[in-house]
Amino acid sequence: METQKKILVTGAGGFIGHHLARFLKAQGFWVRGVDIKEPEYSDKNEMDEFLLLDLRTLDNCLKATQGINEVYALAANMGGIGFITYHNADVLYDNVSINANTAEACKVNKVKKIFYSSSACIYPTYKQEEANLTALKEADAYPADPDNEYGWEKLFSERLYKSYEEFYQVRIARFHNIFGPEGTYDGGREKAPAAICRKVSLAESDSEIEIWGDGQQTRSFCLVDDCVQGVFKLMNSEVNQPLNIGSDRLVTINQMVDMVCKIAGKNLTKKYLLDKPQGVRGRNSDNTLCKQLLDWQPKISLEDGLKVTYEWISKQVK
Ligand code: NAD
Repeated sequence: METQKKILVTGAGGFIGHHLARFLKAQGFWVRGVDIKEPEYSDKNEMDEFLLLDLRTLDNCLKATQGINEVYALAANMGGIGFITYHNADVLYDNVSINANTAEACKVNKVKKIFYSSSACIYPTYKQEEANLTALKEADAYPADPDNEYGWEKLFSERLYKSYEEFYQVRIARFHNIFGPEGTYDGGREKAPAAICRKVSLAESDSEIEIWGDGQQTRSFCLVDDCVQGVFKLMNSEVNQPLNIGSDRLVTINQMVDMVCKIAGKNLTKKYLLDKPQGVRGRNSDNTLCKQLLDWQPKISLEDGLKVTYEWISKQVK
């Protein structure tokens, strides 16, 4: 009998990481989770082992990767546009340190394969100046001009992991706005879908909802359940180039607010905060390459994803 594969998920105390660890356990793997914090909204005992480690040091990355066959590298100091706009030095120092030490530790401990969670934030600003933009395909990454330091670090770390391909296999996804239940919804690190669900849930009907920007900025959103399926399929494929993992359905923030209000059965007036950070004007995922090479695309509609997310966040804020 084949021995059970040992998997490490870094960032397993976070949103996508703990969903992924749960999914990998359900596939029958032995799973170690590592993070600087315990999962806030789920039980760490869902994993075979959970270690509290700061992955900015090589020593801790060596402990994390000891005896491991495959690594899913999700640990990062990150948050929504508010957080990544105002924490440039922390984002760069922490994430470069985490990724450089994870990459090196995988080499020392003879890990066979690593997945790296990159981001749609690597795409150049000049391709994202219109709300009704052309969807971003993987080849658009260069000439590089990411909108913020978080995106520059992600692009650098894609190259960093690729440079270790002589030691282990590397798989890279560029996530486009992943959302869902059991993710951060307050405290300053939350992303737009979670923030909107929280605000709608807390609002009295016929009152106001605050929106960052004019609400005409566009994005695409992918439910975390779809995301982990895509990640697993990519990890187990022969595709060694970065792939978009996201939805290709473009919506304005105003449209998303309307969807959440409809789910909640509330009528709210939008109040626009034009001095708040909004990121690029528009961003969408071109999934052509992903469909072609991986035969994958998200299955769950934005409405269905928002419904489960809204229900979960509503329970939390009550
Ligand atoms: P998250 O913040 O919930 O998870 C990241 C986890 O990394 C956190 O639990 C955090 O505590 C942990 N971490 C931070 N510093 C650490 C350190 N020094 N040592 C160990 N752990 C540390 O974010 P998420 O949404 O689950 O994102 C997971 C990954 O996907 C990240 O790399 C992120 O950049 C990437 N990503 C996410 C999205 C998205 O829409 N959620 C989009 C693009 C890319």
